[in-house]
Amino acid sequence: MPRDPDCIFCKIVSVELSAAVVYENESIVAFLDVNPLAEGHILVIPREHYSGVVDMPSAVCGAFLSSLPVLGRALVEVTGAEGFNVLLNNGRVAGQVVPHVHCHIVPRKQGDGLGYRWNAGTYAEGRDAELASALQKVLSRQR
Ligand code: 5GP
Ligand code: ZN
Repeated sequence: MPRDPDCIFCKIVSVELSAAVVYENESIVAFLDVNPLAEGHILVIPREHYSGVVDMPSAVCGAFLSSLPVLGRALVEVTGAEGFNVLLNNGRVAGQVVPHVHCHIVPRKQGDGLGYRWNAGTYAEGRDAELASALQKVLSRQR
C-alpha cells in the first residue's frame, strides 16, 4: 500500500499520530480537522498515500468519494448544519498544505460568516467551444 513515512496523514492512518476519528473502513479514514472552519469540520483521506487527485487510481478515488453521503448525513444530524461545503485543495496553488489527498467537509449554517471569493467571469466568443474541444480530444485518448 502506498505510504510516505514523513506524511502526517499516513501517520494518522497507521495510528502513529492520534486524531479524532469519526469513521473508517478498508479504504478511507475520516477525522476532525484539528483547526476547524466550523465545529464538526471533517477531513476524509484514502488510506493509501497519493499527493494529488491525478495520482490516484480511479478505484481508490471512487472509494474515497463514496464516503461523502454517509459522512454528510451524520454531520448534518450531529451539528444541525443546514448544508456543507466539500472542498478538495489540489496542489499548493490551490491551497493544499498536506500532500496526501484529502477532502474537507465543512458544516454550514445561515450567517456563519464563512465563504470565499468566487470571482466568476465569462468566455470570449468561441473560447468555451475551443476549450471543450481541446479537453474532449485529450479525454478521448484516456478512455
Ligand atoms: P489543506 O490546506 O492541505 O487542504 O488542509 C490541511 C488540513 O489539515 C488543515 O485544515 C489543517 O488544519 C489540517 N491538519 C493539519 N495537520 C493536522 C493534524 O495533525 N491533525 C488533524 N486532525 N488535522 C490536521
Ligand atoms: Zn500520506
